Amino acid sequence: MVDLDLQLQQKQFNSAMYKYTSRKIYKLFGKLVSVVNVSFQIYLLYLITQISISAFWNVNAFFAAFILTDFVNGLVHMIMDNTAGYNSIAGPLIANFHLHHKKPMYKKSPILFVYFNESGAKVWLVGYLFIVSIILGFSNPNPVAAYILVYVGILSSVAEVSHYLCHTSDSGIFMFLSKIGVFLSKQHHAKHHLKDNTNYAFLNGCTDPLINLIAGKFYKGYKETTDCHFAQYTGEGSENR
Ligand SMILES: [Zn+2]
Ligand SMILES: [Zn+2]
Repeated sequence: MVDLDLQLQQKQFNSAMYKYTSRKIYKLFGKLVSVVNVSFQIYLLYLITQISISAFWNVNAFFAAFILTDFVNGLVHMIMDNTAGYNSIAGPLIANFHLHHKKPMYKKSPILFVYFNESGAKVWLVGYLFIVSIILGFSNPNPVAAYILVYVGILSSVAEVSHYLCHTSDSGIFMFLSKIGVFLSKQHHAKHHLKDNTNYAFLNGCTDPLINLIAGKFYKGYKETTDCHFAQYTGEGSENR
């Protein structure tokens, strides 16, 4: 039996990717998002240097932010993997995002370039960093809370680097850092690509047990839904990112 709905989704996916690859505006938009995110991060780092905090609370704030970042970014990834909407204004960006399942390979690039470039896919982070800038600039927040908010904003880009290294690096230092749980381990993250509706977190994956519970409650998964939408796509971006 021909699945008409799937055929329609595949058609809409291909047309969204055609828009993404043929109209410069989408790639320019990504660069703009990168610039805004990194600028906000530098500005916020400057702002928290004006707030004094003990080393003890600084370490605790970083630890809390690390867990929070893993969770929040994993949730966003979960929502994106389970969202189609290729005909919407964000459709070309959504379609391009889904390609990370078709060919989860990155071109090898310097880490800072990856940090900058991958920050361009995080449109939600612009809103987050803007709100944190307002909070820090115009109010007097609890110092530990201020540090947590800023660290989450920066670690959200670091999470992209962790995912990149997980797919590209076999270096001793990365293998060590992923083994002790600082970065995402290959073994843990492989389940996201091999299985369904699982292990969405990508800073180090420590919050996946909770995200997996949420995913199981709200979503069917991607293997028989969004992963099928790019089955007929062979254009630019289907080979590597
Ligand atoms: Zn995914
Ligand atoms: Zn991956």
